[in-house]
Amino acid sequence: MSEQPAPAPVPALPAEVADALKRDSAGLVAAVVQQFDTNEVLMLGWMDDEALRRTMTTGRVTFYSRSRQEYWRKGDTSGHVQWVKSVALDCDGDALLVRVDQVGAACHTGTRTCFDGRGLSVVAGDASGAGTAS
Ligand SMILES: [Zn+2]
Repeated sequence: MSEQPAPAPVPALPAEVADALKRDSAGLVAAVVQQFDTNEVLMLGWMDDEALRRTMTTGRVTFYSRSRQEYWRKGDTSGHVQWVKSVALDCDGDALLVRVDQVGAACHTGTRTCFDGRGLSVVAGDASGAGTAS
């Protein structure tokens, strides 16, 4: 029984990253995913420390699914892989910006981004200050 090698230590996030993260009550931070060359905002996903570590070290974006309680990589079933270009932590530490090269559609519904064709009706503002208030 002593012949078994000790389990490999679980790799961790760099301490300065782990310290800066402000996780929600489920231990997750929001990850905004953006196409690196066109600046399209593709989708929003959620990451815990391990998903972020995998995203930072494997070249592929890994999320954590709250509903399924498991890690998943974009593209493993769809082929719509997200190749990591850069990752940034926002000023408060509660959101990540992951810039990627997205293969095909980012949205599981088949649209390029999760926001395509889903605009809401809004009152648009105006930098002139005239506004629309009466
Ligand atoms: Zn979507």
